[in-house]
Amino acid sequence: MPLIDGKKVAKEIRAAIGEEVAKLKEISGKVPGLATVLVGEDPASAVYVRNKNKICKELGFVSLEHTLPENTGEKDLLALVNELNRNDTVSGILVQLPLPKHIDSIKILEAIDPAKDVDGFHPVSVGRLMMGTADLAPCTPSGIIEMLDRYGVEIEGKHAVVLGRSNIVGKPIAMLLLHRNATVTICHSRTKDLPKVTKTADILIAAVGRPNMVTEDMVKEGAVVIDVGINRVDGKLVGDVDFAGVEPKASLITPVPGGVGPMTIAMLMANTLKAFKAQSA
Ligand code: NDP
Repeated sequence: MPLIDGKKVAKEIRAAIGEEVAKLKEISGKVPGLATVLVGEDPASAVYVRNKNKICKELGFVSLEHTLPENTGEKDLLALVNELNRNDTVSGILVQLPLPKHIDSIKILEAIDPAKDVDGFHPVSVGRLMMGTADLAPCTPSGIIEMLDRYGVEIEGKHAVVLGRSNIVGKPIAMLLLHRNATVTICHSRTKDLPKVTKTADILIAAVGRPNMVTEDMVKEGAVVIDVGINRVDGKLVGDVDFAGVEPKASLITPVPGGVGPMTIAMLMANTLKAFKAQSA
């Protein structure tokens, strides 16, 4: 089966980070610290944040968890972010999105010190990503590149088609692929004749949020297919790709779950370690 095992790759990355953190602790007595901020009770967000904190602890990071009620005011949240910016034990700050509607997410993301922006969503980080100088690139896109590299997928000169143009997945993965010299096409809800475009992809990235929308007839024989989608259908997690139909055609494909998801958290830890080292230098 031509499977990209994100779970296995993520485990290897986490193990390497854990070893490095142990060494850093021996040398300096200090370890990276990740502060997570969760506002409200969105169940999916609560699960993501819990996982992130659990892995933080496993790797020997300091983990600071801030869980705030749904009715938290924007001012109070900004005050917390500013406090975390000043806190030396905090190397990285993650404000879990989406935030409740009464809070301006952009304002909050802009308040995070770019040096601690381990999600890579601050406008400064986004600008650096565009310029190809980002140290802290968004986690899901960098996880995808890491998987492609580890599975020996050549990116240069290939046609990569990205389905989705969100700020957290579609646009940044397109940019990272472009920096690696792929020819990139970005598709979205207004793209005409989607199958005609996707069928030309050597590397197809689906980040749409629609269960099983990428079907066998949309994929070229031998394509590498990366499924970012996480959709819950009848209590089960499924991706944006119809795995059963597409898998026989793909030269490599990520499963859901166990593909991109675990890589996202591993890259968050990698970014936190990077931020820690940059701040200690
Ligand atoms: P968004 O809803 O922000 O963006 C979805 C994109 O898909 C939009 O650009 C939209 O186009 C496009 N789209 C919607 N319908 C179609 C269609 N019929 N044809 C073509 N394009 C379409 O989603 P995200 O980028 O935040 O997330 C995408 C998926 O990835 C979700 O399932 C999410 O849960 C998952 N995800 C997984 C992560 C992981 O770690 N595995 C991390 C982050 C997200 P338009 O812009 O025109 O509206």
